[in-house]
Amino acid sequence: MRIIVTAGPTREFLDDVRFLSNPSSGRMGFAVAEAAAQAGHRVTLVAGPVSLPTPAGVERVDVVSAVRMREAVVERFDACDALVMAAAVCDYRPARRHKGKIRKTDEDLVLRLRRNPDILAELGGRKGGRILMGFALEADLDRRSALRKLTSKNLDAIVLNTVRAFGAGRSTVEIITSSGESSTLRDAAKEDIARRLVSLLQEMRLRAAE
Ligand code: C5P
Repeated sequence: MRIIVTAGPTREFLDDVRFLSNPSSGRMGFAVAEAAAQAGHRVTLVAGPVSLPTPAGVERVDVVSAVRMREAVVERFDACDALVMAAAVCDYRPARRHKGKIRKTDEDLVLRLRRNPDILAELGGRKGGRILMGFALEADLDRRSALRKLTSKNLDAIVLNTVRAFGAGRSTVEIITSSGESSTLRDAAKEDIARRLVSLLQEMRLRAAE
């Protein structure tokens, strides 16, 4: 399969030196890209700003903001068989990016934020026969919210994990598919979770071909 994997945070700059972001390390997405390449797939990894080496055999495209991540994914979407959105995309960006550096004053500073495009929801709306996998990062393992995302973004599977996964090498995840199957991996290494997710993509692909 030709698989696009996204990983890491996005950065949303408010001036030339400051940005809004989140602590995503990119480890989960990089592990998926590596596992997919090892399984013989052609992998493009669209990565936000992270300090991780590119896995062997993987084509890497570096982006900074959600808008650029969307462009990079949309450009390659038609030619892919599966998209795994492991990136922690910022939901908002500053409505305007100031040139240079915003000067401080004694007053409070009000930032207006604009909604970023929801990449997965947009592509879920025109996915054709492609397999779409998303991640739902919840403060606690909120299944209902993950199920809502699975349906509203038209996904084939969603991986529910908690904010404790941020930057960690291990994670507890529940994988839920659109056909209603679910499995939980407790305190598993991200590499093991990644291999499980790649097997699932392969199973779904085979099932779709039947
Ligand atoms: O709605 P929520 O942000 O919780 O959904 C998470 C899933 O949607 C993740 O797979 C994430 O990569 C993707 N996402 C996206 N574009 C956004 C926000 C999230 O593709 N603007």
